[in-house]
Amino acid sequence: MILIDGKTTAKKVFDKIKTETENLEKKPAIAVIIVGNDPASKIYVNRKHKKAKEVGINSLVIEFDENISQEELESKINELNNDDSINAILVQLPLPKHLNTYRIIEKILPIKDVDGFHPENAGKINIGIEAYAAPCTPLGVMTLLDEYKINPEGKHAVIIGRSNIVSKPLASMLLSKNATVTICHSKTHNLKEIASTADILVVATGKANMVTSDYVKQGAVVIDVGISRDKDGKIHGDVDFDNVAEKTSYITPVPGGVGAMTIAMLMQNTLRLYKIQRGQK
Ligand code: NAD
Repeated sequence: MILIDGKTTAKKVFDKIKTETENLEKKPAIAVIIVGNDPASKIYVNRKHKKAKEVGINSLVIEFDENISQEELESKINELNNDDSINAILVQLPLPKHLNTYRIIEKILPIKDVDGFHPENAGKINIGIEAYAAPCTPLGVMTLLDEYKINPEGKHAVIIGRSNIVSKPLASMLLSKNATVTICHSKTHNLKEIASTADILVVATGKANMVTSDYVKQGAVVIDVGISRDKDGKIHGDVDFDNVAEKTSYITPVPGGVGAMTIAMLMQNTLRLYKIQRGQK
């Protein structure tokens, strides 16, 4: 069994970005919008802000009160769309219930949509052509597969989870690499039987330790996207690592696997959008 090391792979990406930004007179810039006081969102936004600075990317965090209206938020996005000093716009999700998330994401200019959630970028990924930016978590999974020379071509990839931010774009990306892709979800019958036919099993459910060794084929590659915290604050993946690891050929740990890659891909996307906007890509 080989442990897929997200931290080391992410560090390589950060180092590469840093080397590139060092030579730039005008630095790339990302604006991150956060609404309300969700503690997890605050932690994520702080991490993104800190990491951006470390790799030579300017970061602007814009905080709004929980009660901001749809119109006010959309107008801020318009302002950022028209601001040439901002290359990338990210709206930290989830948003409070009174806001229409889809409409807000749709307002971001696709060329500044660093999360790759805008329907234009999502559509491009779905039809297998290059988007301005692809969603960071699935992009992180694909980067890890690439780094470990795991070629999805011809393999049966099973994804448990059907979210728009992780599972669906990942399915398209794996399909573009010629994998045979199956998406499973909470209503899937015979989940265990399907999962145990996977050459590459990706789990993104948010159900701590739900995947045990009977879900896993001998020699499978297992990618764990899940992050949940128990009451003591300990982080768990969706895969019962100790139970599953020895059956796998490659496996990602939690923490230190996919999660470590997400911010790296965000920074990579920011630099990419900067280059696209300057006609350098
Ligand atoms: P989500 O939370 O929107 O949805 C969960 C999905 O899992 C649904 O499609 C549901 O059908 C499926 N599901 C739930 N219980 C199931 C079960 N028992 N059997 C089969 N399918 C089941 O999905 P998401 O936003 O992709 O998040 C999934 C997990 O990934 C969460 O733990 C989240 O925190 C984590 N996540 C991690 C990163 C990262 O950077 N590593 C990024 C995004 C999400």
